[in-house]
Amino acid sequence: MKPLLNIENLSINYMTNKKDFNIVKDVNIKIDERMKYGIVGESGSGKSLTSLAIMNLLPEVLKIQEGSIELNTDSTKDLANISKKEMRKVRGREISMIFQEPMTALDPLYTIEYQLLEVLKIHKTYSKKEMYKIGVDMLKKVGIARPDQVMKDYPHQLSGGMRQRVMIAMALICQPKLLIADEPTTALDVTIQAQILDLMNELSDLHNTAILMITHDLGVILETCERVAVMYAGQIVEESTVEKIFEEPAHPYTKGLLSSIRSLGNKSEELYSIPGNVPTPDQYQELGCRFATRCPYAMDQCFNQEPLMYQVQDDHLSKCWLHVEEGRANERSSERTRS
Ligand code: SF4
Ligand code: MG
Repeated sequence: MKPLLNIENLSINYMTNKKDFNIVKDVNIKIDERMKYGIVGESGSGKSLTSLAIMNLLPEVLKIQEGSIELNTDSTKDLANISKKEMRKVRGREISMIFQEPMTALDPLYTIEYQLLEVLKIHKTYSKKEMYKIGVDMLKKVGIARPDQVMKDYPHQLSGGMRQRVMIAMALICQPKLLIADEPTTALDVTIQAQILDLMNELSDLHNTAILMITHDLGVILETCERVAVMYAGQIVEESTVEKIFEEPAHPYTKGLLSSIRSLGNKSEELYSIPGNVPTPDQYQELGCRFATRCPYAMDQCFNQEPLMYQVQDDHLSKCWLHVEEGRANERSSERTRS
């Protein structure tokens, strides 16, 4: 069966008057129906841009340079090459998105009722009364105790946690096939974070919705996802099941990320963080491996030759020269490099 979402060789460039810079390169991701898939990386890793590309919401200055984003629902569509009109039918009904700060996604001038039911109005044919009932039911499902009151409220009358619940209700009201959540809990208190993640998980199971979770937080991935892609400086550097990534991380960057969360749990150790900064896009070209400036294992080769994606074990990829000895190059990535 075809995956629900199949991103192949996605590259995104930033265009200036003088020159193009590559920002996201060769992203390959497959998400099956009902799967919970995570992309983890620091800010500037390209994870949010990847999700904006899926939603066809990249800002003007950014352009998909190469690749396809195939969505397989009733029909097959390439979201990298789709008209604005077609995309409007996809958004909300087939794919919807939750952002980090609900205040930026909710319009302060309209009631929750208006905003919650708007997407239903676009996509489905219900009477006013039916829509209101669906809206109230959805608010109940996201754990809002007084849904009739909240329908009348404006966004500023709700707490941050409540607003994020409303966003989840809005995102799921048309029962989309895929929910993209970009740092959905980062702006919330820790106690509410866990509730919101649980809620998203429960509701996506209920509605058979797949989740693409975008986060800088490996803890969130561990709690919610089955598979994960680790992104660094615009590229996927490691991809596998969450279990394998946590138990046997292969890429030096992933190992660094894991050490930093593990030292958080262990108070006696000093907090570990990966030294140095993520390179900026104008520096990418000069580096073979984009992690070379921060990698404790970097060799000469790493500074002038881009590493291949190696299959380090079954269903586990890592983009690093250290695997030359232990693994074989993933066929697809070695073919691409040759051509
Ligand atoms: Fe480190 Fe080299 Fe591997 Fe890059 S290719 S992660 S610099 S060892
Ligand atoms: Mg982001």
